[in-house]
Amino acid sequence: MLTASVILRDSVKNTDLVYTYKVPDSMSEIILPGQIVEVPFGRHNGTKDGIIKSVENEEYQGKYKLKEILTIKDVVPVMNADQLKLIDYISKRYVCTMGDAISLMVPAAVANHQNPLVRFVKLENKELALELLHSNKLRSINQINILTYLLEKNVVPASELLMNTSTNNSVLTPLKNKGLISVYSERVVTDTVSEDETTVPVTSSHTLNDEQQKAVDRICEKRDRAKVFLLHGITGSGKTEVFLRSAERYLERGERVLYLVPEISLTPQTIRWIRSRFREGVAVLHSRLTDKQRYEEWNKIRNNEASIVVAARSGVFAPIDNLKLIIIDEEHDSSYKSDTHPRYNAREIAMTRAKMCGATVVLGSATPSIETYYAATNGYYELLSLTKRANPNARLPKVTIVDMKEQVKLGAGSFFSIPLRNSMAKAISENKQVILFLNRRGFSRTHICKDCGEPRFCPSCSVGLTLHNNRYSSDKLLICHYCGYTETLSSIKCDSCGSTEFTSIGFGTQQLEEEVKKNFPGVGVLRMDQDTTTGAGSHEKIIEAFRNKEASILIGTQMIAKGHDFPAVTVVGILDTDIMTSSPDYRGSERAYQLITQASGRAGRDNDPGEVFIQTYRPDNPLVLYAACQDYESFYNSQIEYRKALALPPFKASGELVISSSDEVELARISGDLNKYLRDFLGFQSSDCAFELYGPIPAPIYELRGNYRNVFNIKAKNRSLVIGVFSQVLKDFDYTIYPISIDSDK
Ligand code: ADP
Ligand code: ZN
Ligand code: ZN
Repeated sequence: MLTASVILRDSVKNTDLVYTYKVPDSMSEIILPGQIVEVPFGRHNGTKDGIIKSVENEEYQGKYKLKEILTIKDVVPVMNADQLKLIDYISKRYVCTMGDAISLMVPAAVANHQNPLVRFVKLENKELALELLHSNKLRSINQINILTYLLEKNVVPASELLMNTSTNNSVLTPLKNKGLISVYSERVVTDTVSEDETTVPVTSSHTLNDEQQKAVDRICEKRDRAKVFLLHGITGSGKTEVFLRSAERYLERGERVLYLVPEISLTPQTIRWIRSRFREGVAVLHSRLTDKQRYEEWNKIRNNEASIVVAARSGVFAPIDNLKLIIIDEEHDSSYKSDTHPRYNAREIAMTRAKMCGATVVLGSATPSIETYYAATNGYYELLSLTKRANPNARLPKVTIVDMKEQVKLGAGSFFSIPLRNSMAKAISENKQVILFLNRRGFSRTHICKDCGEPRFCPSCSVGLTLHNNRYSSDKLLICHYCGYTETLSSIKCDSCGSTEFTSIGFGTQQLEEEVKKNFPGVGVLRMDQDTTTGAGSHEKIIEAFRNKEASILIGTQMIAKGHDFPAVTVVGILDTDIMTSSPDYRGSERAYQLITQASGRAGRDNDPGEVFIQTYRPDNPLVLYAACQDYESFYNSQIEYRKALALPPFKASGELVISSSDEVELARISGDLNKYLRDFLGFQSSDCAFELYGPIPAPIYELRGNYRNVFNIKAKNRSLVIGVFSQVLKDFDYTIYPISIDSDK
């Protein structure tokens, strides 16, 4: 007997199992793993959609009477073998249901794609129809209308016919029985994404320099096991050229390529450019596609019509067979990590896929994440370096570190220093452009000493403390988001100068916009952040407007730091350096370094030399100095030492669990329950105490969309220990609990 293992597409905790169904004889020839099927499920003749995980041909030994699969919804499988293997990996690694894993891998646009079979009605006997109509033998006005319509059109989709004649299906049957009409189904080809690429010339490629050539040769060596490279090169060193050349070689060998880039860099411009370079066989996946486009691109991939897939984060799940090269450009970029449950990391999935299919992975960055650089310098990955600018004529911008303490004393205000303001005014008067960076929307405000600028750090974790309201008194609290260390605002004294005067710094993009308008009346300003880019295509509109010089000043978050080319920009200001370096997250410094590097890359791309201003209250902060002179090695060394001292990834695994409720009292109660549970569970797990548990601690953003949130942090020797704890918690607790992150050991 043929049976199939089926996972429900929308499985929840209680239905997240592999179910066995009988395959009816009529399907035995066409059933395949990866197909979407409809199966009977539950009582009252309920049905559900599922994915065939595997098909078995052996006697069923179980004790239940097997139900039969009802229909195969699409004969072409929606998941390939790699993806089916990934279901288990994803649900374990990210502590989610197998249904969640399937939703990640099969976009709704594909899974819900209405049966591409369309029903048509055709007039079969014209003479008889005319005769009947003329002889008034037909009693039904509906039948008359249908025949009249068909005499005009001959063949029409059933839906059109029924709609235009205001009839329903039942009217067709007697006509069919009389042999007047036939009804049949046919697959219709939907039209593809229209591409306007006729005018784009194929970009001529450069002669590679020695370092580039060596990198391409290493990447393209034939190998039959997975291997990971880090291509580390300063901005402008020609990494893109290395990626494209390598991709070309793989394609020549008939092997397929996945090229991942941060969502924001998939502008229509770059897409057109990539299409021109590879002509046929490019599929593009990003979040701004319509359902129809997404379906088409996806179909191209599963039908092997595309040999290179250029995609944002979720493209890592694309059903690419014979995948042999995975490129991850800007590998450090935070957009590779999903910000909704399950919070998968595309970089990690890429590594797992590569192992499964023996592919080569190339990570590229000017500012690699600390974990990646650690892996590349400790024998886990191979390091390839590009140390020179590819275009020797390109000039580096002049970087100035501005001491904001001095500036405030001079009366400059906390937004713009005097040198930045002067340079902005000069640039604007010369018809040049300015970009001002803020790290984020300004949720959290950082507390710094009014006299020396030293931020308040947690004494044991060295991350910035976050300001919270105190429920029991008006004295506010400063809380460490990792270990829960707490102090009251009125009781603190600066560690470096002893002052008791503190002030909070930090402002949002919106406030900055108002300030800019006040300082530069009549000058055009554009703002790009999460608030101004919610609509489809709004990114591009802002970027195009700025490129077309519709405004002189662009204010933005990290979004605009990536890859954009604005030739007229000569001045760049980085305004909230200290907020990043003293953020409540141990990756804050890393982000600051990355932002400063990338932002600097935006200044003076054309012939005019660029100027970069880094505003800070701590001008002697080594991190800022390293970033200003692009000394990645020194920066990395300082960070890896810090991580080692505090047992953070990659030395230990660290995981964060968030628990939320719309009722604060309820939150306190369940946090207490979970705390007790965790302590019992962890104590029971290991007598030599392999775990460190902190919590409950108010989340850095305590109140979010009407919910109050607490976090627990767990550190353990390795990742699987943390995952083990998390999956047990999720099984045993019914509250809204989500793993936010499980950052890896190596
Ligand atoms: P990265 O991705 O490392 O920031 P790009 O690949 O964008 O750098 O290259 C920077 C510039 O140098 C681009 O304008 C590119 O066309 C040019 N370039 C790349 N490789 C070469 C080369 N071998 N010779 C001359 N110019 C090059
Ligand atoms: Zn001080
Ligand atoms: Zn702490």
